[in-house]
Amino acid sequence: MNNKLKDIFAENVFNLEVMKEKLPKQVYKKMKKTIQEGASLPKDIANIVANIMKDWAIEKGATHYTHWFHPMTGKTAQKLDSFIERGDDGDIIFELSGKNLIQGEPDASSFPSGGLRATFEARGYTAWDATSYAFIREEGNGKTLYIPTAFYSYTGEALDEKTPLLKSMDVLSKQSIRVLNILGKNNIRRVISNVGAEQEYFLIDKKYFDQRIDLLLTGRTLFGAKAPKGQELDDHYFGMIKERIAKFMNNLDEQLWKLGVLAKTKHNEVAPAQHELAPIYDTANVSTDQNHLVMDLIKKIAPKYNLEALLHEKPFSNLNGSGKHNNWSLSTNLGENLLNPKESPHENIQFLTFLVAIIVAIDKYPELLRISATNAGNDHRLGANEAPPAIISIFLGERLTDLLEQLENGNLTSSKNTGEFKNTIPTLPNLNKDATDRNRTSPFAFTGNKFEFRAVASSSSIAMANIVLNTTVASVLKEIADKLENTNQTDDDILLILQKLIKEHKKIIFNGNGYSENWIKEAQKRELPNLKTSVDAIPELISEKSINLFESMEVFTKNELTSRYHIMLETYSKKIDIEAKTMLYMLSKEIIPATLKTIQKVSNSINSIKKISDKISTKHQENILNILINKFNELEDLKNNLSKERNIAKNIENTLELAIKYKENILPSMEYLRKAVDELEIIMPLEDWPLPDYTQLLFKI
Ligand code: ADP
Ligand code: MG
Repeated sequence: MNNKLKDIFAENVFNLEVMKEKLPKQVYKKMKKTIQEGASLPKDIANIVANIMKDWAIEKGATHYTHWFHPMTGKTAQKLDSFIERGDDGDIIFELSGKNLIQGEPDASSFPSGGLRATFEARGYTAWDATSYAFIREEGNGKTLYIPTAFYSYTGEALDEKTPLLKSMDVLSKQSIRVLNILGKNNIRRVISNVGAEQEYFLIDKKYFDQRIDLLLTGRTLFGAKAPKGQELDDHYFGMIKERIAKFMNNLDEQLWKLGVLAKTKHNEVAPAQHELAPIYDTANVSTDQNHLVMDLIKKIAPKYNLEALLHEKPFSNLNGSGKHNNWSLSTNLGENLLNPKESPHENIQFLTFLVAIIVAIDKYPELLRISATNAGNDHRLGANEAPPAIISIFLGERLTDLLEQLENGNLTSSKNTGEFKNTIPTLPNLNKDATDRNRTSPFAFTGNKFEFRAVASSSSIAMANIVLNTTVASVLKEIADKLENTNQTDDDILLILQKLIKEHKKIIFNGNGYSENWIKEAQKRELPNLKTSVDAIPELISEKSINLFESMEVFTKNELTSRYHIMLETYSKKIDIEAKTMLYMLSKEIIPATLKTIQKVSNSINSIKKISDKISTKHQENILNILINKFNELEDLKNNLSKERNIAKNIENTLELAIKYKENILPSMEYLRKAVDELEIIMPLEDWPLPDYTQLLFKI
């Protein structure tokens, strides 16, 4: 296996190793500088790279290439072209010109732009992102060369997730280097934001999935009564992986390795049928691209094992949903992790500066981090005692909290030590102890040498979370650098600035239980925002504070933010509307006819018994009949009510008003309807119920 792994790892990736082997030395050097230091890429080398990349791809069996991009649909998009061109003598040649490598021109009119351009101004460009490797994907029986690209409009406005992410990485690097220079480090050319994304997902048997229109159209069960067993025994978490799932996971790992994704950890998650995969971290850009590949491949490989993967944040009620943990840290191009406290952090001014900058950034812009975790699916999860609360706060743990108290008191003298576990069983080794225990209830937790943002939605791109982290932290580093440039830059000068900042912003630090009621009250006292739903959060994207931040850091223009605001709200309303329509469809086509049949069956049975003798009691059957008919009538009323609310919504044009309507009227109407259907399901015979139930979906694999 080990040898095999070595052979297949990154075999389909045009990475630095391949470039070193194939590109002329000077060209390779330039590519390396771009990839590792963010240097701009001279145009003239594109022709050389394109030609060699094409030969490499064709040698590997690729016939097509595609500019791969991330429009604001949250998914990836592509248009395929073959390498084929007409030769001079009626023959064919294979070609990928420098121009075709660098630039593509997909029609942008059918991608969401949030009003950035009218459909008649359809021009959109994709531009080669050389900092994320090109790779070959095997699809169907063909192979395609994927070229990662950024996507923007004719007027230069970003239509994707990658463009602002790359900008945020640049500005963070620039401001970090300024601070490092002031702190005496002059040899740093690039500061990199590193990200490791843990992906949660569900796997269910494909035959049950195929019988559920709600799963097919919306990714979640819109109906479904609790199974007799849920997650109460905690016997699934880290439990033995079932054979079929293990085969799926092995195949997934292998496919990801071939694409250069360092798939590392896999295990069963808390809910039955729930699993997790975590690759080893990479730059924020590469990790974002790779997380799209992870999601794509999970979906794509599952059916090979008669499984279906659910990436939705809340596929099942009454069970934990899925999220994505975004592990984030900063390192220099020389490999130093700037968030590593090392042995004595109280003497590590560099660490303290970056730590304080991050705390200040989160405290100044908690709304923006919250926005990066919004989508209609995640609203079912955040704040529901299974996922971090919607209130953004930071968990630092004992060691760092103690350190910051010393900093605040102007008396930094010691660092709490990490220590060792002494085992009383002689055969077990003594283990090193971590500096702090874990706190799973915090949305943003320090975990040794990185921060873990735990609120991201499982089906979303991680781009926005990292755009927010990079940009907000860059803005605080800039503030610190600006201030320091007017001092003598002694340690005391620096500590004084940090001391003032921590006093002002420590209210964002919370080491307690984020799931508790008390925290909600305490957070209110601290005036921390509690933006419970997407609709509460999204408007903050176009607040003055947000516009000032993103414009001054040159990550988003006001126009781009406004377009994203509209897209997020529209997507929210559309998703809920599709769910509502799917509910109505399932009711009319499946649930109501099935219920009528059962009603008829029971009444036939009562009649036939009565025909035989009026001395046999039909009391219980009549009771069942009564309940069925009452539920049926209730369903009809609730169904009509949902239709009525949808009709009102149709007349609302303003995107925010519409989203509010969906949140405040349509979602609750859907919930009432679901409750009635779930109660009906409990009394209906399994053979008459038209949908596979939770027991089948969750346990029969
Ligand atoms: P856990 O489930 O305990 O949080 P995992 O091992 O499942 O941890 O995932 C941790 C993730 O954090 C992995 O993707 C890992 O590569 C990533 N990670 C580790 N160190 C760093 C770092 N310095 N910066 C960013 N991500 C990191
Ligand atoms: Mg984690």
